[in-house]
Amino acid sequence: MKTLAFINQKGGVGKTTVCVNLARALSLKGFKVLVVDFDPQANASSGLGIRVKKEQSIYQAIVEGDPTPFIKQPFPELYLLPSSIDLVGLEIELVGYSKREYVLKELLEKGNYNHQPIKSFFDFIFIDSPPSLGLITVNILTASEGVVIPLQCEYYALEGLSLLVRTIKGIKKSLNPNLVLFGLVLTMYDSRNRLSHEIAEEAEKHFKWIIFKTKIPRSVKVSEAQSFGKPVLDYDRQNRVSLAFQDLALEFLSRIKEREGLG
Ligand code: ATP
Ligand code: MG
Repeated sequence: MKTLAFINQKGGVGKTTVCVNLARALSLKGFKVLVVDFDPQANASSGLGIRVKKEQSIYQAIVEGDPTPFIKQPFPELYLLPSSIDLVGLEIELVGYSKREYVLKELLEKGNYNHQPIKSFFDFIFIDSPPSLGLITVNILTASEGVVIPLQCEYYALEGLSLLVRTIKGIKKSLNPNLVLFGLVLTMYDSRNRLSHEIAEEAEKHFKWIIFKTKIPRSVKVSEAQSFGKPVLDYDRQNRVSLAFQDLALEFLSRIKEREGLG
């Protein structure tokens, strides 16, 4: 289990925040993590302090069939294949490719980093996705082995989740038999808010077997850090969100270990 997709077709639920900060927490433990930003909003890229034009982004990597020259290293052990906000046409352009559901998968299989295939150089590859279930997300799901679903502790959080789970099952059946639902993370959890408790309870009831125990609390430090182009862990390491991501990293690693033991 190396390549994981952070997916939820609902917008603003914390996909990018979880993807970037979990990646950062793992990189602080010495793991080499590549964040692949496959969202034209390019929030993972700007959140890591990187803004590039189309010509330096994953778009160009696809055009040239080689991701290597476009990989940046914004933090020690943390790498990024950036997106660009001028990628608005990406979803439509993918349609023109032969094997259009496998463009990202093939790209990640092609590249080298430090004279090693990408898949062997990096310990983990985390792919950030846009809030839709279109062709970009299909590409992400065919390129991944596991899916992490961030779930915001708000009204309607669970709405749309069954469609998402069905989509994942559909992709597993038709395009990527290796795909597993790896975990569900509750985000923007407010312990003083009854609704947060209710959503958490409900999610635990339905997804007991994959929900992470660690909940990511709500804190203004998250958006502050983003405005500085930094993960929360580099902005305020002692903040409770940073501590939660460090706990999540431990839980993530033990789940990885468990799986590998099983496999
Ligand atoms: P999109 O669907 O647009 O890609 P997303 O699911 O990636 O959104 P994020 O961008 O991670 O969601 O988060 C949405 C907003 O919520 C951002 O403004 C972010 O700063 C804020 N946010 C995310 N996590 C937290 C948190 N734990 N505490 C407070 N604010 C948060
Ligand atoms: Mg996002």
